[in-house]
Amino acid sequence: MSAGLQEVFERAEALEEQGDWGGAATAWGEGLELALRGGATGEALRLVFDAREEALRRAGREAEAIDRVAHAALSRAAAQAGGAPVAVPWFAAGEFGRAAAAWPAFAEDWAADGHAAYTRELDQRMRGLTRGGVHFAVVSLTVEEVEAHAAAHGLDPGWAEARAQAAAEALRRADDPRVPWPPGRNDPCWCGSGAKYKRCCGA
Ligand SMILES: [Zn+2]
Repeated sequence: MSAGLQEVFERAEALEEQGDWGGAATAWGEGLELALRGGATGEALRLVFDAREEALRRAGREAEAIDRVAHAALSRAAAQAGGAPVAVPWFAAGEFGRAAAAWPAFAEDWAADGHAAYTRELDQRMRGLTRGGVHFAVVSLTVEEVEAHAAAHGLDPGWAEARAQAAAEALRRADDPRVPWPPGRNDPCWCGSGAKYKRCCGA
């Protein structure tokens, strides 16, 4: 929680202690603004929203525009959290070179910097979007799986779309092909380097 939000919590709770629900509602309103400005959609926003709602009710005040904005943000986050994860196709070290050899477009996008850089970049992209509320399922694919999916659906196997579809289809199979992501900070990195996640792709 930000220092600003921490200060609001302390101030608003002190006002509640004094029975000043109008003052508390105003303070919680400042908290809502702070949380929304920082892009918060999670637990901090929920806590402030609930506290503000109670304070407004006890003070006999109506909800305002900020409350409707916060409600919309919470609804959106809940919809994403309840949605299916986004399947992310990934090639383990042994498959990566085969994929680059099979598909020039893949090689152009990823091969120059090697497997470690490829995995690290995927990790960074996913971490960025995870903070925005997106859920990911990393799916380890083989070249053959992508080729088979592409052939069955009339796709160019070198397209990113073919890989994305193959990953999504693999997720629906009974044997879960997921690579657990993200690993714990002190667990082995998912890229297979053997290093701790926090010192490897999670750095
Ligand atoms: Zn790694």
